[in-house]
Amino acid sequence: MYEPTNESQPTTTNTTTNTSQTTPALAGVCLVCGGECAVGDTMCARCDGLMRDWLREYPSWLDSLHEFLDSTAHYGGHQPGRVNLPAAPTPIRLPVLDHMQAIEDAAIALWRRLYAPPAMPWATYGMHPPLVDMLRTCAGSPRLRRMPDIADFYHEWESMVRKTLDIIDVPPAKHGIGRCPNPLCGVELTAAVGAVSVACPVCGNTYRVVDVRLGFLRECIESGRAFTAGECAELLRECGFQCSVNTIYSWRKRGRIQPAGRNEKGQPLYRLSDVHARLARHDVI
Ligand SMILES: [Zn+2]
Ligand SMILES: [Zn+2]
Repeated sequence: MYEPTNESQPTTTNTTTNTSQTTPALAGVCLVCGGECAVGDTMCARCDGLMRDWLREYPSWLDSLHEFLDSTAHYGGHQPGRVNLPAAPTPIRLPVLDHMQAIEDAAIALWRRLYAPPAMPWATYGMHPPLVDMLRTCAGSPRLRRMPDIADFYHEWESMVRKTLDIIDVPPAKHGIGRCPNPLCGVELTAAVGAVSVACPVCGNTYRVVDVRLGFLRECIESGRAFTAGECAELLRECGFQCSVNTIYSWRKRGRIQPAGRNEKGQPLYRLSDVHARLARHDVI
């Protein structure tokens, strides 16, 4: 319903180039990273893929941000190095609210840039689709990689993503941690965030959470299982590695790691074995 009405044909390839007919076609230059890109494009396939992934992931990140508006949600859970402030929190986290507004403003700006050229700004001012629709439409727009001012938008979204992930990159209150290490049992165990030990409800044995997590980590590495960047970072941190979502995104940006697929929400999934191998190389950022 909010699909473009003034979209140029995405199949045109050479009509936008300025090269004369006698000059051979030269590769374009990505305005974001300076790498090579297709003629007529302003952004290379890799930068293009990253930016579209951010736009696709934002709906679920916005859900998480919404939860963090509530000041009773705990920062950082049990992660070492993070402390809950002793001061009484405000009921609503204003910085989170400001940040969510900034995301909406950026989405409006990008959507208007792509789909609502301000020929009559007084007539269309303030009119735009719902945020989630704008994000989806922009993520699928073929014109994204042709925008002459793409670098400004790219860098704005890049720093916004970093800020968003800094806020939401924390584990949930209670979660599955892995299988009971008892070889005769092996049921899935869950534990509250911050729990040090866990009692198996089936066999009755008690284990250290970190041992269960290490067992799960080993199992995932061996089986090649893939998770979102956030899930990879969480599991690895729980097993004593220093790993953040931003680290994983930075590796991806530098081409050191590739997603192995996507989940049903369209989020890229990374093999835990790949992320772990990178970490084991002490190749931090
Ligand atoms: Zn690029
Ligand atoms: Zn058990």
